[in-house]
Amino acid sequence: MTEDNHLIRELRAASLGREGEVFARLPGGETVSFGALFEGAGRMAAALAECGVAPGDRVAVQVAKTIEAIQLYLGTVTAGGIFLPLNTAYTGPEVAYFIGDATPRVVVCDPGRLEETRAVSGEARVLTLDAEGHGTLRDLADRQEPVAPVARAGADLAAILYTSGTTGRSKGAMLSHANLASNSATLRDYWRFTADDVLIHALPIFHTHGLFVATNVALLSGAQVVFLPGFDADAILDAMPGATALMGVPTFYTRLLADPRLTRERAANMRLFISGSAPLLVDTHEQWEARTGHRILERYGMTETNMSTSNPYDGERRAGTVGFPLPGVEARVMLEGKEVAPGEIGVLEVRGPNVFQGYWQMPEKTAEELRPDGWFITGDLAKIDADGYVTIVGREKDLIITGGFNVYPKEIESLIDDLPGVLESAVIGVPHPDFGEGVVAVVVPEGEGTSPEAIMQALSGQLAKFKQPKRIVVADALPRNTMGKVQKKALREEHATIFTDG
Ligand code: AMP
Repeated sequence: MTEDNHLIRELRAASLGREGEVFARLPGGETVSFGALFEGAGRMAAALAECGVAPGDRVAVQVAKTIEAIQLYLGTVTAGGIFLPLNTAYTGPEVAYFIGDATPRVVVCDPGRLEETRAVSGEARVLTLDAEGHGTLRDLADRQEPVAPVARAGADLAAILYTSGTTGRSKGAMLSHANLASNSATLRDYWRFTADDVLIHALPIFHTHGLFVATNVALLSGAQVVFLPGFDADAILDAMPGATALMGVPTFYTRLLADPRLTRERAANMRLFISGSAPLLVDTHEQWEARTGHRILERYGMTETNMSTSNPYDGERRAGTVGFPLPGVEARVMLEGKEVAPGEIGVLEVRGPNVFQGYWQMPEKTAEELRPDGWFITGDLAKIDADGYVTIVGREKDLIITGGFNVYPKEIESLIDDLPGVLESAVIGVPHPDFGEGVVAVVVPEGEGTSPEAIMQALSGQLAKFKQPKRIVVADALPRNTMGKVQKKALREEHATIFTDG
């Protein structure tokens, strides 16, 4: 009997018999075939096994985005291991925490960080892989014969991804082979990906979006990718006439819109622009359609759940919403233990084959967020309208409680964003001596600009007094992380004493 590795079997199926065909186009014009991709993964698996990686062992990886890094992901899963990618922006102390928590057998880092990584890696074997795909791991892999995938069932873990940890410590979300394979298959079908697609892959691969949504969906479809090491407007615009799909975070779209080379003609061969990981402004959606003729398809997901909802391929892609629960995924909005009526705001819960297996070595945290009957409490505030479209209103922890009233930042942000002279805004709550929290709006102007007074005046007729910002701060830009998410925690810290100073 041949051994069966659930995820690798699924990822290989679409390219079987097409080993010679191109999987990835690299920036220098080089290409990598499906055969070469999986052969390299088999060599990586052999190298990891030689370092002692046995089924269930973690392989922690903090490296640049290269095809070799993709082969390391596939090689780890091939070897039966658990892939643990780390954001390249993480500092030494952060990496030390992840390594201490996950106790990997092997750690792979950039050669420039070898010493500091070694210092925190304890017993783990530390190998290197640089931005060109070279290093001690590659050397070791090149000396191996590719090995066949180690048997792993759907319920076995394939990856641990640490959540961004905006509150408290990062938690390791345990994702099984079946979590990843089922979600990618659902997305492939929902978004109609086939072997004829050419996907522009410019997302980082330490995050669920670039690693699982982009890479796995492409492999599962047998599609080709234009493999870019990061966001690069020139490279994306160059690739667009020969591509069919782009997956991006909202900042990709705003940056591309700022480039006059983005035209309807350039996007003529494209069939699908997908956005997620952070809210896409309605304005961006509308500008994109006006400029390219395409309606961006927005979807929603998170590290713990893979993707949970998506706007439809054929039906109405409703701007400002994240569409419907994906096939096989259930969603409900809960408030004080009860499901709310359509259109009302509460905490979004999701259930389905996409939902993770719990937090690594944190049974209490898992019990707090994952109900015994499978519902995962996302921590996102949302509403589901009568037509079934889900709208994300923000993170529960970003909810403002002022004078005992709940204020949902998105309601105020949407009104401010629509005002002339405003590019975007972020509304936060910070300590206030009378109200507990006071509402503060941080506003980024555009064009002619605007003034706090003009904004206040515009809002006063539209919002109840308690929702109106007590202070408006004009800023050059909003702080964002690499996935384009506005860092509200940083804003709250920056403006923490705005009502208490003096
Ligand atoms: P991460 O686990 O880093 O992928 O972050 C997941 C979080 O990003 C979710 O819980 C949401 O708060 C947010 N998010 C993801 N996609 C969207 C979207 N399309 N619209 C609004 N928020 C989103």
